[in-house]
Amino acid sequence: REVRTSEVDVLVIGAGQAGLSAAYYLHRAGLEAGSDFLVLDRSPAPGGAWQFRWPSLTLTTVNGVSDLPGMSFAETLPANSAEVKASDAVPRYYRAYEERFALNVRRPVTVTVVCDRDGDGRLRAEAGNRTIAARGLINATGTWEHPFVPHYPGAELFTGRQLHTKDYTSAADFEGKHVVVVGGGISAVQLLDEISLVTSTTWVTRSEPRFRDEPFTPELGRRAVAIVEDRVRRGLPPGSVVSVTGLPWTPALRAAQKRGVLQRLPIFSTIEPNGVRWADGRFVAADVILWCTGFRSALDHLAPLRLRGPGGGITMTGRLATQTAADPRIHLIGYGPSASTIGANRAGRAAVKELLATLG
Ligand code: FAD
Repeated sequence: REVRTSEVDVLVIGAGQAGLSAAYYLHRAGLEAGSDFLVLDRSPAPGGAWQFRWPSLTLTTVNGVSDLPGMSFAETLPANSAEVKASDAVPRYYRAYEERFALNVRRPVTVTVVCDRDGDGRLRAEAGNRTIAARGLINATGTWEHPFVPHYPGAELFTGRQLHTKDYTSAADFEGKHVVVVGGGISAVQLLDEISLVTSTTWVTRSEPRFRDEPFTPELGRRAVAIVEDRVRRGLPPGSVVSVTGLPWTPALRAAQKRGVLQRLPIFSTIEPNGVRWADGRFVAADVILWCTGFRSALDHLAPLRLRGPGGGITMTGRLATQTAADPRIHLIGYGPSASTIGANRAGRAAVKELLATLG
């Protein structure tokens, strides 16, 4: 097998909001895309994880997609865009963005492993039959590739269908079936709402959901980010944003509440072939368990770098906590406090500034 090796100053892994923001600032700093820096992306087409979002997620139901630096989302939107699928609109924007700034993203290319073993000051990333030797790394691999499903005893014996948010396509798939929706985040309540319009549901969450009456303000956003930032600076896993921001009441959720859909049960203790059971003996028969239990950062390819500390997370430092404390050449963006479209933008800029200073 012929292995091609290339050398670059900076390798960016992932071309979602975070990777594109970093690529923009590298380009603006005068680095040449494709030679001085390289962006590798595993997805088949532009759009990051947005290309995989379920069809009913529209620009009305998303929390909001921030503009990438240097080009507005609105430029690529049709006139009446509210009901446009996020999985169409955002990828169209990212494609136009990559073209405008000639970011030269290579895809589909999966980085399987990054290591630092040759003592020459360069990190080595393996991707199929290529090795990329880079002086600095900006990792922007998101969370979509790493769905999280907690384990409950008996899960493997369940005879119905179990799926994660990531696998959801349409409520119509569940018609005539009883669906147990697990999870207390925004995806959980959005999917619960739409599934409950076509079939019967049971909603289960680990802790009491907290609905928020007041609108989402920048202050609330800053508080949420500050809490997550504090956690990663202490080397803890980032944790969930909803635990800080609460669930926003929307007209659709108010209607779901009126239909009795938001009557929530605490988490069950075991899964049986035909349903789920609580410690007090209560049983709910189920055909489907939908795990809306979130995602974790997709960082398996960085395992040889031994970034994870005893706190179970990666200790982060630098102005916006995008730099790993273990190695100043390695930045993680779209991670922890920057895991939103607006956070990813800022993180891209901060990471490029700090990394270029480190590399001289
Ligand atoms: P991604 O968009 O996931 O991009 C990562 C890219 O890296 C992907 O293209 C992937 O293929 C690639 N990749 C992964 N591993 C590798 C590898 N080993 N080698 C090469 N490439 C790799 N945020 C908001 O601000 N507003 C919202 O409305 C919003 N809605 C959301 C809805 C859902 C259902 C979810 C799950 C998240 C939502 N978020 C939202 C958070 C959202 O994930 C971030 O805002 C942001 O889009 C993530 O960008 P990213 O660049 O970090 O990751």
